[in-house]
Amino acid sequence: MTRSHPTIDRSADLMERAAQVTPGGVNSPVRAFRAVGGTPRFIREAKGPWLTDVDGNRYVDLIASWGPMILGHAHPDVMAAVQDAATRGFSFGTPSENEVALAAEIVSRVDPVEQVRLVSSGTEATMSAVRLARGFTGRSTVVKFAGCYHGHVDALLAHAGSGVATFALPDSAGVPASAAGETIVLPYNDVDALEAAFAEHGDEIACLITEASPGNMGVVPPAPGFTEAMRRVTAEHGALLVSDEVMTGFRCSRSGWYGLEGPYDGGAPDLFTFGKVMGGGFPAAAFGGRADIMGHLAPLGPVYQAGTLSGNPIATAAGLATLQGCTSEVYTRLEEVSRTIAEAASSALDVQGVPHVVQWAGSMFSIFFVSEGSRGAETGVVRNYDDARAQDLPAFAAFFHSMLESGVHLPPSAFESWFVGASHDDAAVEVVLDALPDAARAASESRARMDR
Ligand SMILES: *Cc1c(COP(=O)(O)O)cnc(C)c1O
Repeated sequence: MTRSHPTIDRSADLMERAAQVTPGGVNSPVRAFRAVGGTPRFIREAKGPWLTDVDGNRYVDLIASWGPMILGHAHPDVMAAVQDAATRGFSFGTPSENEVALAAEIVSRVDPVEQVRLVSSGTEATMSAVRLARGFTGRSTVVKFAGCYHGHVDALLAHAGSGVATFALPDSAGVPASAAGETIVLPYNDVDALEAAFAEHGDEIACLITEASPGNMGVVPPAPGFTEAMRRVTAEHGALLVSDEVMTGFRCSRSGWYGLEGPYDGGAPDLFTFGKVMGGGFPAAAFGGRADIMGHLAPLGPVYQAGTLSGNPIATAAGLATLQGCTSEVYTRLEEVSRTIAEAASSALDVQGVPHVVQWAGSMFSIFFVSEGSRGAETGVVRNYDDARAQDLPAFAAFFHSMLESGVHLPPSAFESWFVGASHDDAAVEVVLDALPDAARAASESRARMDR
């Protein structure tokens, strides 16, 4: 079968111009397509499940802005809330009512969260949570897991997933040894390594930060009991447990990953971080948790934290309308669409004999193109970053580009979750299902080429 290749001249022109004025042509590295090659599509507009690029090509969107567009693009209720807020001004630098409403919505959804502070990005949320943990405990060491991404905070970039995984940078240049030196990096889902690290350094550790269910090395949920083990070990050593729900929050369930897995024997995490969905596509994020810990923040306590645009009236309006739109029907639809797409992708890959593993966190899922003979391929489970890295990346790239040509925009990296929205209707799902057999064949052919 021959397919007409869509024209992408305008995207190519824009990329050339962009590369002159912006490093790599992009404002966030994964957008540059370096992991899959080719020309990133410049998107002109988006509606529901559809992206339209500057050349007029349409794609079913399986990125959803990396999570926030859970209701679909330009949802009428969110649009109305944003337009209404915008007519009343853009930013005040004073308290405003929507901040209270959004904070209350978060507190009401996630039981252990008694108070939150709003910030503008997930990076800011984790950075502030770590500072608060250090201020509260009077200790400085932070423990994180390889493959977990918590934004580009100096102390948290060591062995991070997401774009850092794509670029195979173990660490970023520009992070001083002093910042990285106070970070201990452990393998995920390994209770022995966790216990050993705390046995040796327990009285220096301010906090353990983890993705609630990691999604930035692909979806690698905690093994049964692993979250409880983190809670037990941190509590034994007087360290805080910080659950990063920037990706999973309000997406895995109305209360995020905590809503699926909690409450935990031994208690809840002390602090949580949120972002993505709670901003509805605008810059809004938050960190929160126990009131006695949050009370250490300025102006009540000695831990300083602030932001000119924190709690911005338009961002909070969008976030609030999005959370209010996240009804149980929405979560049911996300599950249905995800299951349909993942099952079809898996059978298409089976038909072509392409080894793969599908893993889930609520409606978040990813398909690991596990290399033959790797532990993931042998056991059918990807447990940690080492397993996730043993992927056939050229096979993923071939799969990705075939999907793109058929009008489906996947995340341009093998280390990411696929994201659906509640507006993915049957027509959009049909486009995805129709695209899968060719993409699976392309992945299989890329493996055959590698074998020669
Ligand atoms: C996206 C993400 C962040 C960083 O959020 P930004 O808004 O991109 O700064 C932090 N933690 C996790 C788990 C994320 O997925």
